[in-house]
Amino acid sequence: MHVVKSYLVDSWIAGQEPTTPLFDAYTGKVMAITSSKGLDLRAALAHARDVGGPALRAMTFTQRGELIKKLSEVVHASRDELCELAGKNSGNTRSDAKFDVDGGSGTLAYYASLGKKLGDKTHVLDGAADPILRSARFVGQHVYLPRHGVAIHINAFNFPAWGLCEKLAAAFLAGMPVLVKPATATCLVTARIVEKWVEAGILPAGTLQLLCGSAGDLLDHVGPQDVVSFTGSGETGRMIRGHAAVLRWNVRVGVEADSLNAAVLGPDVEVGSETFQMFVNETSKDITQKAGQKCTAIRRIVVPTALADEAIAALADRLSQAVLGNPDERATTVSPLATESQQADAWRRIEDLALVATRVAGDPDEVPETGFFVGPSLFRVEGGAAAPFVHDHEIFGPVATVIPYDGSAAEAVAIVARGRGSLVTSVYTDDTTWAKDVLFGIAPHNGRVQWGSKKVHDQGAGPGTVLPQFVHGGPGAAGGGEELGGERGLAFYWQRTAIQGDRALLERIGLV
Ligand code: NAP
Repeated sequence: MHVVKSYLVDSWIAGQEPTTPLFDAYTGKVMAITSSKGLDLRAALAHARDVGGPALRAMTFTQRGELIKKLSEVVHASRDELCELAGKNSGNTRSDAKFDVDGGSGTLAYYASLGKKLGDKTHVLDGAADPILRSARFVGQHVYLPRHGVAIHINAFNFPAWGLCEKLAAAFLAGMPVLVKPATATCLVTARIVEKWVEAGILPAGTLQLLCGSAGDLLDHVGPQDVVSFTGSGETGRMIRGHAAVLRWNVRVGVEADSLNAAVLGPDVEVGSETFQMFVNETSKDITQKAGQKCTAIRRIVVPTALADEAIAALADRLSQAVLGNPDERATTVSPLATESQQADAWRRIEDLALVATRVAGDPDEVPETGFFVGPSLFRVEGGAAAPFVHDHEIFGPVATVIPYDGSAAEAVAIVARGRGSLVTSVYTDDTTWAKDVLFGIAPHNGRVQWGSKKVHDQGAGPGTVLPQFVHGGPGAAGGGEELGGERGLAFYWQRTAIQGDRALLERIGLV
């Protein structure tokens, strides 16, 4: 049996019994086992702080960018092998696996080029120097420098490649060493990438460590210079935020959690128009891509009452074309969920939804004989912002709910806002006045907003695709975190300090 080891203090090490099995999501067979029991996580964090941090901080942004470029190239070169592994351990179709793996190498490549742009320096100035009182000589300058701790990345199961790479890219470029803990159930892809990087000999000692298996006592050992970036359920996020050592040292915590994302169709959109097709394409794609196990997936489809029947008919037509089956086969368009417990959880929540909403397309129970599948389905619920269940519960599977509304910008905003904070909302309209009211109204409730209209109807990758140049994260229920966004994503790993002194002397050391 393949034992997935952790990579701590620059060595591969297996945890003790009891171990956790990792499954093939289609056949249900055990693929490997892992454990973190008995691993010395205090020593691992100390190694990152003592060895990895100084190594990265000694490098300029250009040099860190060159390192990140090499990491990206290794992932890209291993693409086929990684996609095959994701097809098994995550149950991904080839296209879903590429979404994860290429998203990872692409994000690394983006941050590599940002390193080149930031150049041959190790710090970044924030704004210009300001005079202290009336003196032109005695000034203060804000500067960003990497924290002297370790960046702990606790990741969700659904993007084992992208989740690893997107957080690592920003942390490394900012100058912080990383300890990554992937979700246990799908850690094979993350572990294989780290293995490839170690084999390639490109990681300076202590800069990257991998913990497979449960988090154990990891958080007991965090310190004042550390940061924790967490992606997963809101419940785990709250536990991490409330951890005693995290509170004791005011450890900076970023949380990316559950999100009830929405798509809003404007009342001006004609059925069959380019804007309507864009709405149908993007909404139906989000129900089935990665079997709906995407944090950015559209869960609430907000359509004017007058267009609801036609919108549902168009979406039902798309769902009827879904092919569930062996992820290895090209014809398969919808993969199984990653684990049996997620399948059970999705079915249970769908039952709850069915108590208050009407199923209008698909059947969650119509699934192949093997694999942790949930059939794609569409529901309809009345009541707008007061509708039960849909604004409070995320079903992490191929399910979405149509919520009819009166077509006014005010009601559209109220419905989106009722999600209490989302990662992304898409709006489809060619009416600029209506669009302004909706976009400005929903923006504070979202990390990202996409406006779909006829001029861009055939462009972009859809609202569910997270691009490195734009921020990822959302307020409230979405966790309150913010990642990526180009250089913005580095600030999480930096301390901003105001340095006050003689302007000429500050200038001599690059601080003005
Ligand atoms: P989860 O159960 O909260 O697990 C997330 C991570 O936290 C895993 O690595 C897990 O490790 C770890 N963890 C669990 N308990 C912990 C503890 N006490 N201390 C430290 N770490 C702990 O979530 P999930 O089931 O993997 O992911 C599904 C959820 O993530 C969905 O709700 C989805 O919306 C959300 N998500 C959000 C985003 C986003 O960017 N906003 C992206 C993807 C997913 P083990 O696996 O070892 O338990």
